[in-house]
Amino acid sequence: MTAYHIFTPEQAMRFADEHSELFGEHSKLSAAEFGDGNLNLVFRVVNDKGTSLIVKQALPYARCVGESWPLSTDRARIEAEVLQLHARFCPEHTVEVLHFDRELSAILMEDLKQYDILRTALIKGKHFSHLAAQLAQYLAQTLFYTSDFVLTGPAKKAAVAQFINPDLCLITEDLFFTDPYCNHERNNIHSLIQPRARELWQDEELKAEVAALKADFLSKPQALLHGDVHSGSIFINEENCKVIDAEFGFYGPIGFDVGSLMGNLLINYVASAGLFSDPQQVLKQQQYLLSQIQALWQQFAETFSHLQQTATQDPALQNERYQARFLQQVFADAIGYAGCELIRRTVGLAHVADLEKISDAKTRASCETHAIELGRRLILARQNLTSIEQLLALVQTLKR
Ligand code: ADP
Ligand code: MG
Repeated sequence: MTAYHIFTPEQAMRFADEHSELFGEHSKLSAAEFGDGNLNLVFRVVNDKGTSLIVKQALPYARCVGESWPLSTDRARIEAEVLQLHARFCPEHTVEVLHFDRELSAILMEDLKQYDILRTALIKGKHFSHLAAQLAQYLAQTLFYTSDFVLTGPAKKAAVAQFINPDLCLITEDLFFTDPYCNHERNNIHSLIQPRARELWQDEELKAEVAALKADFLSKPQALLHGDVHSGSIFINEENCKVIDAEFGFYGPIGFDVGSLMGNLLINYVASAGLFSDPQQVLKQQQYLLSQIQALWQQFAETFSHLQQTATQDPALQNERYQARFLQQVFADAIGYAGCELIRRTVGLAHVADLEKISDAKTRASCETHAIELGRRLILARQNLTSIEQLLALVQTLKR
């Protein structure tokens, strides 16, 4: 066992060579760090035939800030174990982990170089018809099979303990639910929307609902979440999509994963008015996104409900009325978390390229204001929306 040290490209290369069969004895390897992520080191190791693997290593601090923001390297274990477990239930759409070294906090995984990052693709106006169906499968399978519907009480408690993830949960607790609703120094607010952001800090009706969503995030361990299903964690191509980067995984409310994804599709929806100059293209992009959000919920609910009816182990939870009520609450939770994602990506610390890429400051401000208004409406209306059609109608009535 090797003691923890931060990899050089050379060391990442040796790690990849040692733990894979892929490269063979005589292949010449090269490696480079290329990650654009916030927290970790990501290396690509390639041989002279072009075969490649990814080495991801957690640093004892957040990469984007430095040593002043310490973070447990246990997040690499969480990431590897969440991905391995999710791959058991949905191998088609989970990146494959080939090896994990706990001491080095390093993961060796498949290289998704044949894929694009979903966020980048959406910003370019690329559409994939299989997006919703495949991610609905990923979410339904991974969330159902790690929930109380399947696990026994003792097994569930052991699983919750295995995925206690205090450092990374704290990031979400702060950045998602607290900072945007007060004058926090971590917030990142473009000057043109300062007045609108300030209104959030006084919005007691909204803050009460966000408090309820945060309380659920803290205390509703329904299933093993990915914990960070944004469109930068999804790789996609013409045939398939795969989810990466599960270091925020923990046992939490199912609606959080579903809502994070919906929220990211909605961020691109509001941003598209600033990303594309042709109104027809804006319309096409928005229609595409709404159709995917609709299919995502419909197919998630259909699959989850089918699993509830056919694969629930707990006899009490086999009650069909309870199962329907459970799913309805997941829907309301998802809408609430989608709303929080829209707001925190606009006024919180971590912005997204969909909005940042809009070069004209006034246009961007108008899209950001739209994101805040939509986020607020979703959070406030979530318990009263009972169908995906009602959600889509609400999104469409709120034109900027
Ligand atoms: P972080 O957790 O630090 O945010 P990510 O897991 O998001 O790191 O990875 C950062 C970047 O590294 C990704 O945006 C992508 O460009 C690249 N990357 C990570 N994993 C893979 C992979 N399996 N295949 C190809 N590229 C990857
Ligand atoms: Mg990450």
